[in-house]
Amino acid sequence: MQKLYISLCLAVLLAGTSCDPKGQPDTSAVGKYRVVTTIGMITDIVKNVGGDRVEVIGLMGPGVDPHLYKASAGDVQKLGSANLIFYNGLHLESKMGDVLAKMSGDTKTVAVTDTVDRSLLLTPPEFDGQYDPHLWFDVTLWMKAVGTVRDVLSEFDPDNTLAYWSNAQRYFAKLAELHEYVKAQAARVPLEQRVLVTAHDAFNYFGKAYGFEVRGLQGISTAAEAGIADVQELATFIAERRIPAIFVESSVSTRSLEAVKAAVKSKGFDVKIGGELFSDAMGNQGTPEGTYIGMVRHNIDTIVNALKGESTTHTSSTTGY
Ligand SMILES: [Zn+2]
Repeated sequence: MQKLYISLCLAVLLAGTSCDPKGQPDTSAVGKYRVVTTIGMITDIVKNVGGDRVEVIGLMGPGVDPHLYKASAGDVQKLGSANLIFYNGLHLESKMGDVLAKMSGDTKTVAVTDTVDRSLLLTPPEFDGQYDPHLWFDVTLWMKAVGTVRDVLSEFDPDNTLAYWSNAQRYFAKLAELHEYVKAQAARVPLEQRVLVTAHDAFNYFGKAYGFEVRGLQGISTAAEAGIADVQELATFIAERRIPAIFVESSVSTRSLEAVKAAVKSKGFDVKIGGELFSDAMGNQGTPEGTYIGMVRHNIDTIVNALKGESTTHTSSTTGY
């Protein structure tokens, strides 16, 4: 029996699939090709555009900070087994640069932001002249990333071009609706109250697209720690402008914003934590916030409710804010 099992496994291995210890060949992805992605928002694009023709493996799950993320040995293995690799680029995955560069020698490795017209990108002074990588918060810019994924999948698997284009068209329609929703929600906050204070500067594109003034405690990358002077400066700004709420992020420690809240209090003003936003990572799989559309809706609903002075209707699935 043992011999039979071993020879069966050998046959399976020769056929190019795996044979797990339970003796069950892995047939889950038969007929599919494998795409490995970094952040959840890109994983979501590939799922929507690739549909059932693609097996998608996302490396970064809920609560993971892409600025600090380093590829594990398991990730390198996954990347090595990929037919295609998608990442954000613009130095978002700054600690994965070497791994991605190495992979690009054998596997098509594409930054979804590569085809976005550079004149549409922001170059905040605090990021040393580099482009701000968080462009998913302008839904119309993220649609360009969807177009890139569609084109790369079509080029890799031309027989299914029609399916990729029709999937992308369907997704574009939903994203166009999402963009209108965010605009309409944002318009509910009076102009002078549209100030978004968050843990790090992930929301510049959001601010530009939907009319919010944006302040982050940490800069564009969470790799730079905020100092006491940064906390005091932001606290003064909040107290002087009497901003009712500031927002924590699911992928950044809440400690730094708690310090800001305390510093504001010492200046005689009370600012509340208005809720948790999904900035650089989506929510848990199976929850509405576990999709790009759901996370964007959650964010704008949370922001609007808190800045209008109403209680938040959405509770976080991860930290209970
Ligand atoms: Zn970020």
